[in-house]
Amino acid sequence: MNDMLNRVADALRSRGFDAAVFESSADAASFILGDIPEGQTVAIGGSMTVKQMDLHTRLRQAGHTVLWHWEEEPAKRAALLHEAMNAPVYLCSANAVTEDGLMVQIDGNGNRVAAMCYGPNTVYVVIGRNKIVEGGYQQAVRRIKQVACPGNARRLNLSTPCGITGSCDVSACRNSMCHITVSFDLAPGGKRTQVVLIDEDLGC
Ligand code: SF4
Repeated sequence: MNDMLNRVADALRSRGFDAAVFESSADAASFILGDIPEGQTVAIGGSMTVKQMDLHTRLRQAGHTVLWHWEEEPAKRAALLHEAMNAPVYLCSANAVTEDGLMVQIDGNGNRVAAMCYGPNTVYVVIGRNKIVEGGYQQAVRRIKQVACPGNARRLNLSTPCGITGSCDVSACRNSMCHITVSFDLAPGGKRTQVVLIDEDLGC
């Protein structure tokens, strides 16, 4: 088992998160599906990791109701995002997590970080090993700006400086994905946040 992932899991536990480490995304998916009580409404944040793992399909096959704005037509998306905030279970990924367990997210409209902070009582944060960074907050933000944002910009065909050149240039960015930055010093109160660490590269 990947020692680094186990160290990150210990660090997350010391910050009040539940944390588990899996060798494969298949094992992680089995854990998540087995952990969610029957017949839940599960909302999903924008996440390539979740999509790669096909968790939305597997949750439906297991009898859950899935709310995912990525599947919704644009005119109905805002209403679904509000509905997602009231779901009992939420599933998303993280943009970066440091070896000492600091999770950092950068959102465009904030629906994901809002649900991580408040709303759903149980949040699963599914994180591939490629999201782990050495160092602290600055290194986590650097990873997001240099790896996650350029990858997402290209995937979404956004003409942001990071998507075109691979480098962030805030002053020239007219279609920014980076409106809100949230780091979790400790697990949010009043809810369970289960971090699922996987020894595979997932998402970007
Ligand atoms: S601010 Fe703009 S250029 Fe910089 S990483 Fe975010 S989307 Fe890319």
